Amino acid sequence: MAAERRDQMSRPSRPHLPMRPLWRCRRCGAEWLCQPARLALLVEYRADRTALLVYLSTLMAEAGAQLAQLNGHAASEDLTGRFLSWARAR
Ligand SMILES: [Zn+2]
Repeated sequence: MAAERRDQMSRPSRPHLPMRPLWRCRRCGAEWLCQPARLALLVEYRADRTALLVYLSTLMAEAGAQLAQLNGHAASEDLTGRFLSWARAR
């Protein structure tokens, strides 16, 4: 049996989660939500899109407040696209 790589042993799954207050992905470093994070959420909430949107709205409010403090200005339109638009049911 081939040995698992140590990285995988110590971290069996490194989820694509946000680093606060930068809101960049802990794993891939992209602006969160990165594509893998979106896919994971779509799978997790596939039976309840409304709950997903509520969850994302909460995160967007949190990110908006934290990013506004970091940047000195709010970017609500950008955040809507980043957090909500991709998840809306068609
Ligand atoms: Zn990521």
